[in-house]
Amino acid sequence: MYKDLLAILDDPERVSVNETVLEHHSGGMSYHERKKPDIVVFPKTEQEVVDIIKYAAKNRIPVIPYGAGSSVEGHVIPMYGGISMDFTLMNEILSVYPDDFVVKVQPGVTRMQLNKYLKKYGLFFPIDPGADATIGGMAATNASGTNAVKYGTMKHNVLGLHVVTADGSLISTGGETIKSSAGYNLTELMIGSEGTLGVFTELTLKLAGIPEATVVAKAIFETVEKAGKAAELVLQSGVGIGKMELVDDATIQAVNEFKGTTFEEAPTLFLEYSGTTEAVNQGISLIKELIEEAGAIRFEFESDSIKRAQLWEARHQAALAIVSRKPNRKLVSTDVCVPISQLAISIAYTRKLLEEYHLDGAILGHVGDGNFHAVFGLNTDDEDEMRRFHELNEKVVTFAHDHRGTCTGEHGVGIGKMSFLKKERRSSLHVMKMIKKSLDPDNILNPGKILEMEEVYQS
Ligand SMILES: Cc1cc2nc3c(=O)[nH]c(=O)nc-3n(C[C@H](O)[C@H](O)[C@H](O)COP(=O)(O)OP(=O)(O)OC[C@H]3O[C@@H](n4cnc5c(N)ncnc54)[C@H](O)[C@@H]3O)c2cc1C
Repeated sequence: MYKDLLAILDDPERVSVNETVLEHHSGGMSYHERKKPDIVVFPKTEQEVVDIIKYAAKNRIPVIPYGAGSSVEGHVIPMYGGISMDFTLMNEILSVYPDDFVVKVQPGVTRMQLNKYLKKYGLFFPIDPGADATIGGMAATNASGTNAVKYGTMKHNVLGLHVVTADGSLISTGGETIKSSAGYNLTELMIGSEGTLGVFTELTLKLAGIPEATVVAKAIFETVEKAGKAAELVLQSGVGIGKMELVDDATIQAVNEFKGTTFEEAPTLFLEYSGTTEAVNQGISLIKELIEEAGAIRFEFESDSIKRAQLWEARHQAALAIVSRKPNRKLVSTDVCVPISQLAISIAYTRKLLEEYHLDGAILGHVGDGNFHAVFGLNTDDEDEMRRFHELNEKVVTFAHDHRGTCTGEHGVGIGKMSFLKKERRSSLHVMKMIKKSLDPDNILNPGKILEMEEVYQS
């Protein structure tokens, strides 16, 4: 395989069987059991991706697309070995159309790289998972983050794709317009497909203008449940919040230790409101009223841009802060999303489970859209600890299902949520399998993820 792939890429630096490189591509940041690929390739062009996939198709070799490896449910683990296709060298911003709010990028561009580049145009790309993920990986997991309540998720912000399908054909989906009703929506089919239906080689993205004014507010509560209830009230008021993030006292404590900050260690709602100066002033005073009515102990706001950035950075680092509290821990997280009216009771139930299962974790989440996480830094070799986590996770998901929710708001299925997906999509799972089978009959694209299919590979 090495010789054949070297013949395609014609560069020994970009075809690797080095043990360290293989190990690096064996699981990314996920806690699931690792497995090495047979080989790692680093394509630079669309044509190289086409040629590699044609070769893999002919020889029935699995291909696992790899972005930044920050997915958390085992998405990039080569379950059956094969070729890990690393996109970090396909990281060019291809063209920007500022007047149309559109940019075209290669899949290995990261969200921070893109936003740094776009600043000069007064534009930004709003999807912000905690990690500095690649745009290709974010599209493949339908990622979101703190901005989803205002700007939606990846599926709302990808207008078009270049996709290499399992037989090596290069197709183009969508376009550059904000809307289109032209035929089946193949772009949305591909978004969230986790590398199982096609490999993205170019993405056309919708951009947003950097707002004139932005205010960040911090509201402190006695309990997480009260904070959850307040989130519900703000959303139901229709005030049009930008971000709304909940962190519990354990998370704030971890962030203070990790970042050297001095935030008050109590359940806190971080909120952001942006728009014109006049709209922001009006909006923030309405939010203050609502939050105080919901029983906040304190409400403070911050409009200085550096202090705002520090505050959000602290929030973005929360998961890593929790993991770093003890040595040799892995990030393990639940990811349910429920309708807003079910949020406070879901959080209260989850908090009770943390105590019942004696798991040292924290609750944080993008509560503006009903999505929250119980996050842990666990020792994956400790069978009892992992058993307790899996039992807790199962209960959290079952509670979400019983309250009209979903098992994954943003992390995706990978291998970690396949059993939950089966329950959740009972009536449509067979259609998903039919789609997979018709687009990838030999199951070479990221096999063993999302759906159980029959695998037939050369040994
Ligand atoms: C600390 C931390 C915080 C996080 N916070 C959030 C959050 O707030 N919101 C959120 O949504 N997620 C979050 N995540 C999860 C993770 O960042 C996202 O899932 C992200 O979208 C993964 O992007 P990546 O570039 O790392 O992709 P990878 O992990 O490399 O890959 C993810 C999936 O995409 C596929 N893929 C990668 N590139 C391509 C391509 N070019 N074509 C087709 N398929 C491809 C892979 O095969 C895999 O199935 C967090 C993770 C960490 C570690």
